[in-house]
Amino acid sequence: MDIFALDQQYVAGTYGRFPVAIASGKGSLLTGTDGRTYIDMGSGIGVTSFGIADATWLKAVTDQLQKIQHTSNLYYTTPCAQLAEALCGKTGMKKVFFSNSGAEANECAIKYARKYSAQTKGEEYFTIITLENSFHGRTLTTLSATGQEHYHELFRPLTPGFAHVKAGDLDGLEKLVESTPTAGIMLEIVQGEGGVIALEEAFVKGVAQLCKEKDIPLIIDEVQTGNGRTGKLYAYMHYGITPDIVSTAKGLGGGLPIGATLLGEKVQNVLGPGDHGSTYGGNPVCCAGAISVIRRMDAEFMAQVAAKADFIRKTLEGAEGILAVTGLGMMVGIQTVRPAKEVVQSCMEKGVLCLTAKDKVRLLPALNIPMDVLSQALNVIKEACKEADLS
Ligand SMILES: *Cc1c(COP(=O)(O)O)cnc(C)c1O
Repeated sequence: MDIFALDQQYVAGTYGRFPVAIASGKGSLLTGTDGRTYIDMGSGIGVTSFGIADATWLKAVTDQLQKIQHTSNLYYTTPCAQLAEALCGKTGMKKVFFSNSGAEANECAIKYARKYSAQTKGEEYFTIITLENSFHGRTLTTLSATGQEHYHELFRPLTPGFAHVKAGDLDGLEKLVESTPTAGIMLEIVQGEGGVIALEEAFVKGVAQLCKEKDIPLIIDEVQTGNGRTGKLYAYMHYGITPDIVSTAKGLGGGLPIGATLLGEKVQNVLGPGDHGSTYGGNPVCCAGAISVIRRMDAEFMAQVAAKADFIRKTLEGAEGILAVTGLGMMVGIQTVRPAKEVVQSCMEKGVLCLTAKDKVRLLPALNIPMDVLSQALNVIKEACKEADLS
């Protein structure tokens, strides 16, 4: 039986897959089971930060794999402690909780914010405010945090204690905080799944100020924007704010599942032994991969990411069939004249794999994608954007 048929028969039907089966890869090139090669402009949805089988990452992971693959959190391991130190050293955050995914990183963030506010203000301070059009994950609680109605349908009852305001509406947020005992405010600096939309700086700064004045933990969801994706280690660093909690995942492990919740001064000691946990959390192999990713994110590398981001934007902006280029750094949204799905389909036929986000084409290439490969992919994308509507 072929792979497509096998998958369709036995794998739960929760994904709309492209008719491509990936067998292997190297850097930003992927090879299908049919032997065809593709340029990877999605990096597994922003996960393979240094592409496929990057030598430094591969060595870090395989070296650890030779030593031990899992211990549980009953014991100390070096990679876990060193990764936490690296993350705190580069952000000024104080402690880290490790999990296995973005949704779990957010679940942990929500627990910290709720317990902090319950202890300091009272248990009725449980509401977490997030933005309309946000995306925070697929567990029932992070689904409830997600400000997009269509994800909620037929999964009710949702977890209580979430409210949503429009991005940019600081007045609305202030009113909501006045009327609702609030445990935390959570936002993405660039709404990813919502269509690659960067928040306005004045709004982000206003939210940070409000959180400070009212002693409300500010949670920044950096699951997609984090780990160098936007040209800074974390996207909040573009805006000169200091969050109380930062959640991240996707690009952190370079391709292995890891989530991290970074805890600032205010909340660092709120949870104690028994309050939270994860069997796999802090897995030494995943942490070894993440250390190798994070240690390479120095100023020089960030400058290279910013330069590549500039090149992508300059190449695409104003091209035929392209209405706008959105996002931040190497997190790119392309508003196209043709429906985004058709552009992505056409690119795939021409050997370039892209993503969509809402009505946009979305690009999340590996941060170290070689310039010539990037340039080649952008030419294909431009070509696909200007093609006439064939449907
Ligand atoms: C992908 C994503 C999540 C969920 O991450 P998972 O690893 O799929 O659980 C949460 N928040 C944001 C902003 C994301 O982009």
